[in-house]
Amino acid sequence: MQALVKVRPEPGIWLKEVPVPEIGANDVLIRVHKTSICGTDIHIFNWDKWARKTIPIPMQIGHEFVGTVEDFGSNVHDFKRGDLVSGEGHVVCGHCRNCMAGRRHLCPHTSGVGVNRPGAFAEYIAIPQTNVWYCDPSIPKDVLACFDPLGNATHTALSFDVLGEDVLITGAGPIGCMAAAIVKHAGARYVVVTDVNPYRLELARKLGATMTLDVRNERISKAQEKLGMKEGFDVGLEMSGNPWALEEMLSNMCHGGKVALLGIMPSGTPIDWNLVVFNGLTMKGIYGREMYETWYKMTAMIQTGLDISPVITHRFDYTDYEEAFEIMRSGQSGKIILNWSD
Ligand code: NAD
Ligand code: ZN
Repeated sequence: MQALVKVRPEPGIWLKEVPVPEIGANDVLIRVHKTSICGTDIHIFNWDKWARKTIPIPMQIGHEFVGTVEDFGSNVHDFKRGDLVSGEGHVVCGHCRNCMAGRRHLCPHTSGVGVNRPGAFAEYIAIPQTNVWYCDPSIPKDVLACFDPLGNATHTALSFDVLGEDVLITGAGPIGCMAAAIVKHAGARYVVVTDVNPYRLELARKLGATMTLDVRNERISKAQEKLGMKEGFDVGLEMSGNPWALEEMLSNMCHGGKVALLGIMPSGTPIDWNLVVFNGLTMKGIYGREMYETWYKMTAMIQTGLDISPVITHRFDYTDYEEAFEIMRSGQSGKIILNWSD
């Protein structure tokens, strides 16, 4: 089969002929229909510091996908050939205290599909049955291919009550944009989204942001003034990974405000702890998606009218992956879909 593989320790990604994965007794073999490109894939493409220390070579990359069940091991009884499925990209141990307590997203022994084990940018992928999510076939496949990042957005956006609240989202990448749509769907009042990229701010507006700010030339305090807000934002969702965005967020929260942090900051990023202490802020780090409460919630939200489809801006056949990766690297895109089969 064909797959996109990191074959050399240098920038780039290569289409290669590799064997169809073998399945163990508990595994499901999935024929991949569509995948979407994640920021992680771009880190691996670029071969940055994180990728150099994390990714063994060769590595078949990709973890956002939808497909159909092709085959399964002898212990698998809940899936049948042809079922439409997606998959959770974090494979957990199942035995640690958190796994046993049902907090699988907090397993300290997590391995990542397309990061530590063969990924989804391929004609077939094999994952444990406990990682397979049965999809509602009435949901478009392009949207199902984005369930992994939609899960990051959902896990973060629903960490705190947003009904009637004013929400600040720093970073209008695909995840920040989807988070704007989610908090709107969940009943937030004002949803202010910041970025430094006009293309992405436009995308955030399409997904339902009340107001967007290009923080290269506008301060968040200005948005508060314009909206007639007096006490700051109730909920903050940090989705840029930029230290200055976090600093700005903390100084624009109301007393008692709640902040969920998804963006990956450089190690050692300083913050003004006095803002946290004297303003009584709550801060929560977010990793991955809750298994499988997040998957359940995102399915239910889409079934009840959440529309994240405007975040999908480009579609390519997988053989045109080079162009797809170039556009994703330029920042002039939302989610980009690669089509592998129908
Ligand atoms: P992305 O890189 O596409 O989006 C980040 C956005 O932040 C970009 O549009 C960028 O222009 C913007 N930005 C840069 N500086 C800014 C500033 N000062 N203020 C506001 N915005 C600024 O990333 P994404 O795929 O949307 O993911 C969002 C973040 O979440 C990334 O940091 C990513 O690494 C992280 N992430 C974390 C997890 C997790 O499990 N914790 C999972 C997925 C992604
Ligand atoms: Zn575990």
